[in-house]
Amino acid sequence: MKRHKILVTGGAGFIGSHLCRRLLSEGHDVLCVDSLFTGSKDNVLDLLDDKRFEFIRHDICSPLVLEVDRIYNLACPASPVHYQFNPVHTTKTSVNGTINMLGLARRTKARILQASTSEVYGDPEVHPQPEGYWGRVNTIGPRACYDEGKRCAETLFFDYHRQHKLDIKVARIFNTYGPNMHPNDGRVVSNFIVQALQDKDITIYGDGSQTRSFQYVDDLVGGLLALMESPAGFTGPVNMGNPDEFTIRQLAEKVLQLLPESKSKLIYRPLPQDDPKQRQPDISLAREKLGWEPKIKLDDGLRRTVEYFRRTLK
Ligand code: NAD
Ligand code: UDP
Repeated sequence: MKRHKILVTGGAGFIGSHLCRRLLSEGHDVLCVDSLFTGSKDNVLDLLDDKRFEFIRHDICSPLVLEVDRIYNLACPASPVHYQFNPVHTTKTSVNGTINMLGLARRTKARILQASTSEVYGDPEVHPQPEGYWGRVNTIGPRACYDEGKRCAETLFFDYHRQHKLDIKVARIFNTYGPNMHPNDGRVVSNFIVQALQDKDITIYGDGSQTRSFQYVDDLVGGLLALMESPAGFTGPVNMGNPDEFTIRQLAEKVLQLLPESKSKLIYRPLPQDDPKQRQPDISLAREKLGWEPKIKLDDGLRRTVEYFRRTLK
């Protein structure tokens, strides 16, 4: 296998830190670039002594001159609480930051992969969502800075591909969870587990009948690697998610079953604006083109994530 010099933007975040670890274990050189807005050096602390790993604190909204032959562009806050904190900067990260990374790929002739999202489908009317569905996104709502930023990033990827012959890959990632999630980042899996471990009420938004399909992070990382090393003619976009769909209430019940000692109760809070009602990936394309599908069941992944938060919160 060829040894690559790989840039991972957002490499100190939840998914990025798992990706850096996996790429190092496969013998590559890894450059992790992260502004540490939502990520943390703690996520990559054990990698800092590895001579094939470098960490650079940098915001991708400013250009960066590096020599690499693979780029995974993951930099972008992903939880609604964080991406709505500074919405203008969220859009800048997906637009200006992506232009900078595409420019870097063009100069170095690197292959570049975009961490896109199921949010490009918005609150979908087609269920499950195939890649050919164009989505239903509110352009002026509070989620738009993220959703429209990511949609524009996809547009930029395909224009660089057509105009400059860039070697691109686009993954549309569905809800992903696992160790290294930020305990306060507001996403549902981390919220419910942290609340249950701390005997706090479990906050279900709305009536909890909205659905999501949760993918364990190791499955996703395997998919990202398979996509990056897929033949040059295959660009995606390709869905990456676990098709097992659950209501948010079912998720809360599962967390409580895993923590029977918890004194937490379910409580109901208003549903945030534009919260998608349902979400489930159609992964036929990933199965066909990449031979990839998730392996880890929700109960198993939740158990591993509970153990992580139990250790971290201590
Ligand atoms: P995360 O917030 O843990 O990681 C994002 C990382 O990017 C953080 O380390 C953050 O500090 C860094 N970052 C943010 N803005 C930056 C900037 N301008 N310059 C440099 N670094 C910056 O989130 P995550 O869950 O690991 O998500 C990683 C990527 O995957 C994101 O692009 C996200 O949109 C995408 N994604 C994630 C999910 C999911 O369920 N976790 C779903 C779909 C897509
Ligand atoms: N959610 C919830 N309680 C929480 C956090 C989130 O009920 O404490 C709901 C949220 O309204 C949404 C779902 O869980 O319907 C997933 O939310 P998350 O922010 O994790 O991801 P996204 O909405 O971006 O898919």
